[in-house]
Amino acid sequence: MAGKRDYYEVLGVPKTANKDEIKDAYRKLALQYHPDRNKSPGAEEKFKEISEAYAVLSDDDKRQQYDMLGRVDFGQQYTQEDIFRGADFESIFRDLGFGFDLGNIFEMFFGGGRGYGGRRVMRGNDLGYELEVTLEEAFRGVEEEIEVPRTERCNVCGGTGAAPGTSPKTCNRCGGTGQIQTVRSSGFARFVSVGPCPTCRGAGTTIESPCRECRGSGVVRRRRRITVKIPAGVDEGSQLRLRGEGEASQSGGPPGDLYVQIHVEPHRHFKRDGADLYYDLPIGFAQAALGTEVTVPTLEGDVTVTVHPGTQPGQILRLKGKGMPKLEGYGRGNLMVRVNVAVPTKLTSKQRALLEELAKESGENVKASRHGFFKF
Ligand SMILES: [Zn+2]
Ligand SMILES: [Zn+2]
Repeated sequence: MAGKRDYYEVLGVPKTANKDEIKDAYRKLALQYHPDRNKSPGAEEKFKEISEAYAVLSDDDKRQQYDMLGRVDFGQQYTQEDIFRGADFESIFRDLGFGFDLGNIFEMFFGGGRGYGGRRVMRGNDLGYELEVTLEEAFRGVEEEIEVPRTERCNVCGGTGAAPGTSPKTCNRCGGTGQIQTVRSSGFARFVSVGPCPTCRGAGTTIESPCRECRGSGVVRRRRRITVKIPAGVDEGSQLRLRGEGEASQSGGPPGDLYVQIHVEPHRHFKRDGADLYYDLPIGFAQAALGTEVTVPTLEGDVTVTVHPGTQPGQILRLKGKGMPKLEGYGRGNLMVRVNVAVPTKLTSKQRALLEELAKESGENVKASRHGFFKF
């Protein structure tokens, strides 16, 4: 699956094409290159190429990633199967009068040269895991060991499900293909639908003496300890994909993936917005007016920050590069120190006298009272 050529070029559409234009372009090309119709050499490769282009460009998220990066992250974010699963090939192929079977399509794209048709091999199921980390851990990156209950291939029978010394027999009903084909005509269209064989449930084989360990299923349940590398900069909701760490396949296919969903615990000092951190710095009125130096915590220890004379409430002092690492790309966010000027709620008589004098000097009208308005 090369996908080296520009997807827009492959479909012959401009970068600004909307969904309908992309779909139309794909329909025309699919009609030309679908393996049901076009048996010439190279047609299948061409068909895969246009289908991959369509699968990516017809999906908003994937198209956005492709437009930004010039590629879609196979393996990182999506498996190849995910790329195809999202696109609505079914209605297009049916419209064009081609048979459609998701297993067949996947096999054609990923079947390793077996071509169109053949035994249905399914990937194992994906698993999800929720993992909580502290902001400090998200800042540095961390390795966590997690325990995941999952199905794994049975060691005793090697995943065949047949007792040691025996082997699965070819299914009589489907002759080992795992599929039963039915043809239905409707007007000019001919629908070929292919479904899994009911006798062997698509496996293509039946087992006479099942393995005792797995009772013939070929898989067993285990609790597996897995080390997860959490990259620096992860945020609430970040998702890590561990390829092949999901459930085992029951039909000899590859295992599913494990998705680790990250939750970042709230922090006592910092609020986070993307790569930037926010810190509320309380200072006194006199400090704001006259200027001062204060100690501000960062995720790498305290730093000294100069507050200039005349600093206003809500003013933000930006500490460049003192924020979180950027998960994608280089560099770090900033630490935004938000100045919070504290107004005293209790005054000594000396403080009150000084403030009243200050008010008088500045021409501010205040409610001066000997008993103090803070006395409740
Ligand atoms: Zn077994
Ligand atoms: Zn069968």
